[in-house]
Amino acid sequence: MGNEKVDVLVVGAGASGAAFAWSLAQSGIDVMCLEQGKWLNPLSDYSTFGKDWEIHRQTDFNPNPNLRANESDYPVNDSNTPIKPLMYNAVGGSTIHWSAHFPRMKPSDFRVKTLDGVADDWPISYQELEPYFDQNDKIMGVAGLAGDPGYPEKSPRQTPPVGLGKLGMKISSGFDKLGWHWWPSDSAINTVDYDGRSGCNNCGPCDLGCPIRAKASTDVTYWPKAVAMGVQLITNARVREITIDEKGNADGVIYYDSTGVAKEQKASVVVMACNGIGTPRILLNSKSAKFPNGLANSSGLVGKNFMFHPYASVFGTFDEDLEGHKGPTPLNIMCSEFYETDLSRGFVRGYSYQVTRSKSPLATALGPEIPWGVDHHEEFHKIFNRTVRFAVIAEDLPELHNEVVLDPELTDSDGIPAPKVNYTLSENSRKMLDHGIETSKQVMKAAGAIEVNSDPLIQEAGWHLMGTTKMGTDPETSVVDQYCRSHDVKNLFVVDGSVFVTSGGVNPTSTIQAIALYAADYVKTNRKNILN
Ligand SMILES: Cc1cc2nc3c(=O)[nH]c(=O)nc-3n(C[C@H](O)[C@H](O)[C@H](O)COP(=O)(O)OP(=O)(O)OC[C@H]3O[C@@H](n4cnc5c(N)ncnc54)[C@H](O)[C@@H]3O)c2cc1C
Repeated sequence: MGNEKVDVLVVGAGASGAAFAWSLAQSGIDVMCLEQGKWLNPLSDYSTFGKDWEIHRQTDFNPNPNLRANESDYPVNDSNTPIKPLMYNAVGGSTIHWSAHFPRMKPSDFRVKTLDGVADDWPISYQELEPYFDQNDKIMGVAGLAGDPGYPEKSPRQTPPVGLGKLGMKISSGFDKLGWHWWPSDSAINTVDYDGRSGCNNCGPCDLGCPIRAKASTDVTYWPKAVAMGVQLITNARVREITIDEKGNADGVIYYDSTGVAKEQKASVVVMACNGIGTPRILLNSKSAKFPNGLANSSGLVGKNFMFHPYASVFGTFDEDLEGHKGPTPLNIMCSEFYETDLSRGFVRGYSYQVTRSKSPLATALGPEIPWGVDHHEEFHKIFNRTVRFAVIAEDLPELHNEVVLDPELTDSDGIPAPKVNYTLSENSRKMLDHGIETSKQVMKAAGAIEVNSDPLIQEAGWHLMGTTKMGTDPETSVVDQYCRSHDVKNLFVVDGSVFVTSGGVNPTSTIQAIALYAADYVKTNRKNILN
């Protein structure tokens, strides 16, 4: 049985879908969102208050959907990628799990072809997105410090920066000795009460969900506001495909409700916000006589150019207690010293570091650095609270052979084909990570680390999913235009990280949401033409 037709149907209630729906609702447009997951209750669904809180990182709160395998998850065939894709499926999407490090992409990131002759320039610029970055910051609530020389001047941050603590002071002394850039980076974490949400109590494990709502997951930022303005958010609704009318326009979707019954929802406009894997999956599964290779895919680029941010990890141990557990896990000091291209380093483009605090108790005990057996406790105490970790975040460049395709056999519990990721780490990214490991070691040593170790490629680090419905002005070489509108199907939009042309060398979500708000403004401004 079909539901009543809506103006705009958003698929996916994560970072981008929330921002888009909220923006449209402000103009009184009739919006519905279908989300395969459920609402989580921060107080009762997060493990923070239980004695077994850390165990949940290995089980129902594991960021890898294949290991977590909750009812709302779909499997991802990750047998052909050294980096495992991570995500969360619920109202709030992957922001339930995220570390809320909130840097914007930099102006140069949008112009890599012009500057460095690689990949493509974006059809939009940092300056065009700037008002939307600001708008998004206000709703998410950003802790930060004005004046970062690594960025153009930004509007005042909503709350003061995340405190450095003993650990941050120690590591920043290393940067200072080398004369390298560092800054207390933007975090979407309230450090004091803001917008009806509490300030952070410095308890630590942000990745397990924030029970006091200091961390800005979109279930506690955008969604309550959007729902109050009339957006219908339907949970446990898993979209199988987008349907089309006789003219080849999108006219709605087919989805499965919580009982597994297939339903139809009609809409004037369909907006995909399922992330860089979920969106190409559904587009590729939306096959018809008119679109035999999937919807919006005349270029053959749906699913192609898939980008992660390859991560290396460097961890330094100090011979003093740095109180490394105090404060949000993502301390979020950022270093942009090696961000821009310098070909003498042997690679094009660059990377940033995200500095994080010590590992939590169980993660320390299970970590590879300390042996099991009689020495375990002694070794544990040599490390616990005494380590600083750098995540080296490399700018991955788009490559056609890195892709999301439909698995021929694997399906989710509703029988929808699962995505398969085929990904190879490029030589350029490998060189970048190796350089980042060496420079990180220098900072650690300058700060006084007594031992420095590294992981050349973190496998469980596919946090950032980008590039699979590239944005551009030419329908032959891109899937959506500069307003996130499909070249082929004019009432179909994609507003998540799939539209990224390149990945930048920073966490993507601030930019993803700014783009979603920018696209929403386009729909609002042109509503007479688009919503017919
Ligand atoms: C552990 C972890 C840490 C992270 N840390 C950071 C960080 O510090 N900084 C940062 O910038 N980014 C971080 N990220 C990444 C960040 O969470 C994502 O970039 C962001 O959430 C992407 O937004 P999105 O809207 O594209 O997708 P998501 O937030 O993933 O939302 C997609 C939504 O679509 C729904 N969906 C998918 N398919 C369907 C379907 N067929 N039908 C209905 N609904 C569907 C999903 O259930 C999900 O809720 C992290 C991610 C993880 C997993």
